[in-house]
Amino acid sequence: MEDIISLCKRRGFIFQGSEVYGGMAGTWDFGPLGVSLKNKIMSEWWNFWVEKRDDMFGIDAAIIMNPRTWVASGHTATFADPLVECKNCHGRFRADKIANGITESVTTEEFQSLKVKCPTCGKTDWGPIRKFNMMFETHIGAVLPDDKGEIAEKSVAYLRPETAQGIFTNYKNVVDTIYPSLPFGLAQQGKAFRNEISPRDFILRDRECTQMEIEYFVHPGTWEENFEKLLKENHYFLEEIIKLPKSKIHDLEVPASDRAHYSKRTVDFMFDYPNGEEELMGLAYRTDFDLQNIARESGKNMEYRDKNTGESFVPHVIEPSIGVERLILAVLSSAYTEDEIDGNKRTVLKLPENLAPYRFCVSPLLKNKPELVEKAREVYAMLREKYTNVTWDDSGNIGKRYRKQDEIGTPKCVVIDFDTLEDDTVTVRDRDTAEQVRIKIAEL
Ligand SMILES: [Zn+2]
Repeated sequence: MEDIISLCKRRGFIFQGSEVYGGMAGTWDFGPLGVSLKNKIMSEWWNFWVEKRDDMFGIDAAIIMNPRTWVASGHTATFADPLVECKNCHGRFRADKIANGITESVTTEEFQSLKVKCPTCGKTDWGPIRKFNMMFETHIGAVLPDDKGEIAEKSVAYLRPETAQGIFTNYKNVVDTIYPSLPFGLAQQGKAFRNEISPRDFILRDRECTQMEIEYFVHPGTWEENFEKLLKENHYFLEEIIKLPKSKIHDLEVPASDRAHYSKRTVDFMFDYPNGEEELMGLAYRTDFDLQNIARESGKNMEYRDKNTGESFVPHVIEPSIGVERLILAVLSSAYTEDEIDGNKRTVLKLPENLAPYRFCVSPLLKNKPELVEKAREVYAMLREKYTNVTWDDSGNIGKRYRKQDEIGTPKCVVIDFDTLEDDTVTVRDRDTAEQVRIKIAEL
C-alpha cells in the first residue's frame, strides 16, 4: 500500500487533500493523471450501464436535499457509529473498530466489561458509548444565531450521505414523464459525504467519496431472477470492462444477521486489496423499503401501473452500489508491478488500455535535433487527432522517459529517430514486455 501511495503522489495521481495547509483528514485530491483515470472509469461505467442499454436511465440530483429525505430513509435516526472517548487522553474511537466481536449496537456496559486498552495511551478508562451521526450538517440561507447563540433547527440540511436517495426521490418524476416498462434502472454518479470518525486506508475510507449507484426497479415476483442477472452483469463489468483479475474478486453472501432488516439478499463483492480483503461493491435487494418510506413521508403515491396487465403495485428494488475511489484503488493495486528488465528493477503500472491516462507517448530520440523534433511533432499531432489521450515527452534520455511512462502506465511509447526520416518507420515500445518493434507511421 505504501508503494502505491508513494507512486500516486510522485506521478500526480492522488494527493492528500489541502496538502499545502497541512492536509485535511479523510480527503484526497486527484491530480492530472488521477482525474484522467477516474474519468475513464466513470465513463466506462456510464457507457456500460446507461448508454448501451435500453432499460437504464440517468439521473443527476442535487447534493443538498430536503432534510425529510433523511428522516424517511432512516439516516437521521440510525446513520450513526458507536463513539467512545478515552477519559485519560480524550482520544475518540469507533467502539466496534477497537474491540473484537462486538457490533455497532454495542452498549456502554458491554464495552466497558471488555477492558479494551486505548489504542493511544493504553489505559482502560472509557466514557459512555455515544451514537455519532455521520451526516455532515450544514445550514441553508442567511442564518444568524439568536440571542442565546443558537441556530434555528429549521435551517439544518445535510450533505447527502449516499446518492441512492436522489434516485428514489426522482422515481415518480421519471415514471410520470417517460413511463419506462419494468424492469428499469435509474443510475447516478456523484459525491456522497460521511463524517467518518477515523478515516484510514488511503482512499478506501474517506469522508468525501464518489458513488456510482443504480436502483433497478422490478416486479416483486421477479426479484430473484433480476438479482442473478445483475450479479452476472456486475462481474462482467468488473472483469471484462475494468479488467480486474477474477481471482481477486470474491462474492460474499451477507448472512441475515448482518443484512439490513428489509433485505432478503445482499452480496458484497470483496476484493483482495494490498491491506487485505475489503468490500469493493455491494449488490442489495432492498424490497420496496425506500419507496414505501417516501410514500409515507411525502403522502404521494409510489405505485407503478403495468401497461399490459393494468396491475398497480410498488416496485421492488435491487441496488448495485460502488465507490469510485474503491474501484480506483482496486485498479491501481492490480496494475502495480515491480519487475526486472535487463537486470534493472523497474516499477510498472499495467493499466488496461481503455483506462490508462495516456494511450501513447511520442518523443524524438534526441531533443536537440530539429529535424527529429519536427517529425515527432507531426506523428504526435496525427495520433492526438486519432486517439486524443496522447502525451509528448522529450525530457531526459530515452531510458528515463520509458521509466516514467512505465510508472504512469502508458501502454506504448513511439520514438522518432534518424531512420524515421529515411523510411517513415518508428520504434514502438511495449510497456509490459519492454519489446520494441519497427512499424510504418501509417500503421500506428
Ligand atoms: Zn487514551
